[in-house]
Amino acid sequence: MTEKALSEYVRVASSYFGNPQGNHRFSREALAELDGARERVAMVLGVTPSEIYFTASATEANNIALNVEGSILTSSIEHKAVLAPAVARKANIFAVNSDGSIDRDRLRQLLKESGGYLKLVSFMAVNNEIGSVNPIEILGGMVKKYTSAHFHSDAVQAANYFELRKLIVNCDLLTLSAHKFGGPKGVGILYIREGVKVRALMLGGAQERDIRPGTSNLAGAVSAAVALEEAAKTPSENWATVEGLRNRFEESIHSLDDRILATVDRGSLRSPAISNLLFPGTINEEMLFLLDAMGIGASGGAACASGALDPSHVILALGYEPKIARSALRFTFSTETTIAEVDEASQLVVRAYRQLLPHGGAVES
Ligand code: PLP
Repeated sequence: MTEKALSEYVRVASSYFGNPQGNHRFSREALAELDGARERVAMVLGVTPSEIYFTASATEANNIALNVEGSILTSSIEHKAVLAPAVARKANIFAVNSDGSIDRDRLRQLLKESGGYLKLVSFMAVNNEIGSVNPIEILGGMVKKYTSAHFHSDAVQAANYFELRKLIVNCDLLTLSAHKFGGPKGVGILYIREGVKVRALMLGGAQERDIRPGTSNLAGAVSAAVALEEAAKTPSENWATVEGLRNRFEESIHSLDDRILATVDRGSLRSPAISNLLFPGTINEEMLFLLDAMGIGASGGAACASGALDPSHVILALGYEPKIARSALRFTFSTETTIAEVDEASQLVVRAYRQLLPHGGAVES
């Protein structure tokens, strides 16, 4: 959490014991704070406060957004928080290109053919594993032009690096997660454009205006709003800083060992915060084990029922065979990352890779 977000969290959690939905003075004071948080989030997004809903996670916000009756279209590389509810509703899954992008000609054709019965289209703004970026304004515009469906975007990975006001223009629904922009864990934000009808997932209370019941996480909401304001101040500066670090990491790794491959073309439009690399000849769990011991936190696919890592559905969707997909690792960077950390990490990653290869990775001459 950012310092400001943390101090707001502590201030609100220690000063307001009233439940914002109660009838007494203490509740009214708490409600004023909650309303203030809603207004601040709305201001950042350029929307009205009544269009902002707080949830307990982006996963919950996505599930609410996808809780529609009727036909859904989404992409093959969405976070499971979109993909799983979409698959449960027998959604049409749009296959992405090998760099994670969406083929617009193919999409246009599909929208024209299925526009009449589509109820919801959901495409993420930035992929959380490979960093691929979707032009959300354009995709949302296409959905509006060719269909009467609503357009939702999971913009969880976009907050620090994109102007959310621009990104949201053609969205009817949009999801954010506070811990991705310096706010607390366990706070999701769902934007629902005025007039768009959404069905609650849970029943049991009118908090969050019948969309999401349960006592409000007041300190979480206020702290999330403060963090979002901070994150939204300098998206292009954040991008430039983090891109420099990410590129330095990738270039250093490539120059040390060119057997390590970029999972998506390094020249494609990608979030600066994410580097996904393939380590041919290894299984990512082994790499993760060594890297963890070296003090580096990377990630692979999702844990499967046996506790092992399944190859990531995102890497498979790019067209990789399961064997190479199981060697993929994701590294993330932020404005807090230092050059020294990047340099040390790149050396250690190469060392770990070589340890796992036969003969210590020695190159035959
Ligand atoms: N969507 C994307 C793209 C994510 O990266 C994440 C979390 O990493 C989520 C959704 C889920 O967010 P939360 O942990 O708030 O449920």
